Amino acid sequence: MSISQLARSIVESPTLKLNETAALLREKGEPVIHLGGGEPKGRAPVDAIINCTAVLNTGEVRYAPPDGIPALKKAVIRYTEENYDKCLGAPNVIASNGAKQAIMVALYTLLEPKDEVIFPGPYWVSYPEMVKLAGGVAVAITPEDGSFHPTLEEIAEAVGPYTKAIIINSPNNPSGAVYSEEFIAGVVELCEKKNVYLIMDDTYNRLIFDGRAPTNAFSYAKNHTRSSKLVVINCVSKMYAMTGFRVGWAVSDNTEVIEAMVNIQSQQTSGPSVPAQWAAVGALNGLQSSIASLRMTLENNRNVLVDRLKAFSGIQVTKPQGTFYTFPDFSAYEKDSQKLSRFLLDKVRVVTVPGKEFGMEGHLRISFCGTIKEITEGVERMKWALDPNSPNELYLGDRKLVRDWL
Ligand code: PMP
Repeated sequence: MSISQLARSIVESPTLKLNETAALLREKGEPVIHLGGGEPKGRAPVDAIINCTAVLNTGEVRYAPPDGIPALKKAVIRYTEENYDKCLGAPNVIASNGAKQAIMVALYTLLEPKDEVIFPGPYWVSYPEMVKLAGGVAVAITPEDGSFHPTLEEIAEAVGPYTKAIIINSPNNPSGAVYSEEFIAGVVELCEKKNVYLIMDDTYNRLIFDGRAPTNAFSYAKNHTRSSKLVVINCVSKMYAMTGFRVGWAVSDNTEVIEAMVNIQSQQTSGPSVPAQWAAVGALNGLQSSIASLRMTLENNRNVLVDRLKAFSGIQVTKPQGTFYTFPDFSAYEKDSQKLSRFLLDKVRVVTVPGKEFGMEGHLRISFCGTIKEITEGVERMKWALDPNSPNELYLGDRKLVRDWL
């Protein structure tokens, strides 16, 4: 007896795997610096905790509607009005177990077998596997000019008779690139013209730097009716530092799509756990100052990391405009990013994510959601490991490392 062909075709999430490896090494007392992480370090907002514990204290936590508790749907409607200037009703909203499930049920809803889903590269590691799970074919479009910003022409050229959807993630994981307003407007127009669904993955929408305003795809849409092709995904995971709560959502004018997503989710997992949903209500309706403070911390961390990386000869770094990731090019040192990432973990206990997982070899994803100390020490260790002119010895705490490689 063997497992299914589909199951065999799906690979483990490399980022979750790295978290596991880092935790195991830490348990053994290894001085690991985790620069591969995808979550802010701060605590969840106090309003989230108060709401969540209030529900737990009642001792009555029951089944809830599969599309989310009414209070969360209301909070999402208010959030969308405030941040997207877009008025929606309850049938336009589905709450899911994180942005991940919202995207997944959207793909299940939209794709016929072998339908194509286009997304720019470098891309979030899960897109190809999620498209495959839903029976589709992933088409990654990597900018020809070596930058992190695709052109509208590159996307338009990839659209063909089998294209069912385009996923746009801006600010982008892993590059931190924020796509231009002209590009987003162009993609919205292209999708409306070609009858292709547009899934805007706005997971990092408000984690954006240098005074830029978050992108709002709704503002470029002409079709605001039930036949709209635009689905916008969000979550509390990153902007409220609530990754473990597992609450995300999708909104769309297309109530037929949302209804089908709810049907699928109702047969799959139902909605997110009820205490987590109440926590999300607290975060969305409560004091919003934690987002501004997270943004400021991240912007400062970004500046420190980019400065350190710029002082690292041979490395090409593009300043991220959002998220908490940089995606420098290390190919001058090693073209095989998996080998390089493994080397850095083995030799100096620094966790990075190989660019190959995001569809771009030679790069490493380095996060700046940790502390300044982790960032500076992490880069220092990497430099020591890679730069042949480094001194022969390095101390990690009281452990002496000696270079036994070139
Ligand atoms: N989209 C992108 C681009 C992400 O980086 C992530 C999380 N790493 C998600 C979606 C999933 O978010 P959640 O944790 O809410 O499922």
